[in-house]
Amino acid sequence: MARKPRILIAGGGIGGMTTAAALLQRGFDVAIFEQAGELREVGAGIQISPNGNRALDSIGAFETLRKLSCRAERKEVRLWNTGKVWKLFDLGPAALERYGYPYLTVYRPDLLTAVSDAVLRQRPDVLHLNARCASFEERDGKVFLTLQDGRTFEGDALIGCDGVNSMVRQLTAKDAPSRYPGMMIWRGVIPLDALPERMRASMAVNWIGPNGHVVHYPLRDGEIFNLAATIERETWTDPTWTVEGTREQCHEDFAGWHEDIHVMIDAAPKLLQWAYLVRDPLSSFAYGRVALLGDACHPTLPFLAQGAVMALEDGVVLARCLEAYDDVPTALKRYEAARLERDNRMVAGANDMVRHFHNPDYRDPVKADAYIDREWSAEAIAARYEWLFTYNVNTVPV
Ligand SMILES: Cc1cc2nc3c(=O)[nH]c(=O)nc-3n(C[C@H](O)[C@H](O)[C@H](O)COP(=O)(O)OP(=O)(O)OC[C@H]3O[C@@H](n4cnc5c(N)ncnc54)[C@H](O)[C@@H]3O)c2cc1C
Repeated sequence: MARKPRILIAGGGIGGMTTAAALLQRGFDVAIFEQAGELREVGAGIQISPNGNRALDSIGAFETLRKLSCRAERKEVRLWNTGKVWKLFDLGPAALERYGYPYLTVYRPDLLTAVSDAVLRQRPDVLHLNARCASFEERDGKVFLTLQDGRTFEGDALIGCDGVNSMVRQLTAKDAPSRYPGMMIWRGVIPLDALPERMRASMAVNWIGPNGHVVHYPLRDGEIFNLAATIERETWTDPTWTVEGTREQCHEDFAGWHEDIHVMIDAAPKLLQWAYLVRDPLSSFAYGRVALLGDACHPTLPFLAQGAVMALEDGVVLARCLEAYDDVPTALKRYEAARLERDNRMVAGANDMVRHFHNPDYRDPVKADAYIDREWSAEAIAARYEWLFTYNVNTVPV
């Protein structure tokens, strides 16, 4: 029997781990190189829509995650100053019936645990920590990956899952670096019992306003509550892109917003400020024996809540392509053909959400009503989300 290719994976985040799990399932030899000394994710929330849960199920990680997550009843839209409520969509039994999988709200470290368990229970020795990828070279039908500490590893393919500032992208696509889009986000995790009773409902809420929006939802069976508050801010100067902020600064950013927003800010034990980072879409994800995946190839504003979900889908589809085509460059081109349009369409859709989340019409309650009735109607919502949620990672042609 022919030897299965050895696949090197740069980056042990959600995308890298999912790819590794899907490849191991198909009998590939895999090595993952993660720069950090331990697997870690920011202590915040993440939404995993049905299409993402279908991908997680495909690598055997869904049941673990389901037990750790929270299934909120529904999603609502609320107006920034009056607090008026519109129903967005059902997240519970209706989602399950329609898509076959629920819409989960998840604590990020739990998601990384679920996907890394799916890897490590198959092969505990594939993960290299403290392994920062520095460069690579393709020669003689192989890829040679060099780490910052000088070690070199040989494989048949290299998959760049190394995030928005990807080294692999820098050496393949060679496009412009990431940039700050004039928006940042306040992130906090709040113990549910720090909120008044009236604010503890199992609901995912999008507050929409003229210059920002606030998303919140319960996590971990409702023990904790995720607060994610985006605000337009012209410049960002901190080189780390993440910095702790004060409640006072956060209150100031949301001056004039509904009282509930300020109650949540006061209840947050710690508030982090994150700069968003974006890049222009790529016209190629595959370069010979090297391919890009997840945020390395399509970083996005998280306004459709699909960045990690697309990385999950990418990982399963990439593994299916490598299984279906013996020639590695052909397999990677098939992966590109299967994923490029969908991933780039998602990024464009997320960019388009800016006008729905932040809109000058929201300053005037009458105009706000008209805008929301039109742009957040059941039909408008279905047009934005249905093509995302119905995708089947297991059957899409490769
Ligand atoms: C505020 C916010 C909210 C979001 N909400 C959602 C949501 O609700 N739903 C959703 O689906 N998505 C969401 N996203 C997007 C999601 O977080 C990302 O799309 C996802 O984390 C991408 O995963 P990744 O594995 O591709 O990249 P990353 O998570 O960035 O992982 C990259 C990994 O590579 C490692 N690495 C980097 N460089 C190197 C190197 N040179 N050598 C070795 N290792 C390296 C890093 O340490 C890291 O572990 C959100 C994003 C933000 C910012």
